[in-house]
Amino acid sequence: MLARPGLPQFEYVRATTSVGVHDLLSTANARLLMGGTDLFTQMRDGVWRPRVVVDVKHIPGMQDITMDPGGLTVGAAVTMNQLARHPAVQRLYPALAQAASSVGSFQLRNRATLGGNLCNASPCADTAPAVAALEAILVLSGPAGQRETPFYDFVLGPGRTVVGTDEFLIGIRFPAQPAGSAGCYLKLGRSRMGDLSVVGVAVVAFRDLAARSGYRFRLALGSVAPVALRVPAAESLLAAEPPHETNLAAAADLAMHAAVPISDVRATAIYQTLMVRTLTLRALESAWAQLQGAGR
Ligand SMILES: Cc1cc2nc3c(=O)[nH]c(=O)nc-3n(C[C@H](O)[C@H](O)[C@H](O)COP(=O)(O)OP(=O)(O)OC[C@H]3O[C@@H](n4cnc5c(N)ncnc54)[C@H](O)[C@@H]3O)c2cc1C
Repeated sequence: MLARPGLPQFEYVRATTSVGVHDLLSTANARLLMGGTDLFTQMRDGVWRPRVVVDVKHIPGMQDITMDPGGLTVGAAVTMNQLARHPAVQRLYPALAQAASSVGSFQLRNRATLGGNLCNASPCADTAPAVAALEAILVLSGPAGQRETPFYDFVLGPGRTVVGTDEFLIGIRFPAQPAGSAGCYLKLGRSRMGDLSVVGVAVVAFRDLAARSGYRFRLALGSVAPVALRVPAAESLLAAEPPHETNLAAAADLAMHAAVPISDVRATAIYQTLMVRTLTLRALESAWAQLQGAGR
């Protein structure tokens, strides 16, 4: 017997409209499909045995990236390469563009979608920290219409989200960022080529005259907790005192203490904990340098 016997039999449904999809999801033993880079490996490994696989990426709007004064809307089936290469995403949402470009290999990024990455709800999903730091809103389609949920409520734990059995994700909305915003995503994997992250750190920063320091930093960690983790203590510190060498380092320490990694095949918990401090400090320094550059 082969160690990996291949995919089980299933019926493939290519949806070109959302009409009928909700009924199908609630009545059949069905799984949603976009790029399939998580779903098919999980089906091969026996995690899921759906009778029907419903491909929703051809529904209008699912592959669109749109900008308006309210911000950026990314269709759930937009691929990582589309996101990483989009000029407005690179310019205005650099943490998101960098997170997308850090996923796997170039070939994988042609299939892997932003929505699939978030719905798979892996603790090491590379886009999750950026999506958390950018305070994105997820848009779900259900039988009664659309509903929205902030990303911080979306993931319940590893592999678990608030998506109902008859719902599917159609898009991700990113609020407009203040002018001159800075951002970055730093990832540590076991290799530079297409590995899952051991630690991921996203930082978004901008001028905010309402903050005592004059600046607001948003910091989110990936791979070191069951879900992407914001670090409010570090964010508050940098809102209270203008960034300088000492409090950037103190904020990185707070991030390290917030992390709750587990030892696994990719890294020990202690290594991850220490690398949270290193990567957070680098990410904060990078965002601060960008802000100072923008202010000149
Ligand atoms: C070799 C390899 C390397 C990888 N490297 C990385 C990496 O570096 N970083 C990283 O973060 N990930 C990595 N991944 C994981 C994977 O590629 C990403 O999570 C990808 O973004 C998933 O997107 P997808 O479109 O392929 O999702 P799919 O596999 O199509 O779907 C993922 C899950 O979401 C569900 N789903 C699909 N569409 C919807 C919808 N519209 N609404 C609700 N649920 C839905 C599916 O049923 C499934 O459970 C890697 C995977 C492989 C195979």
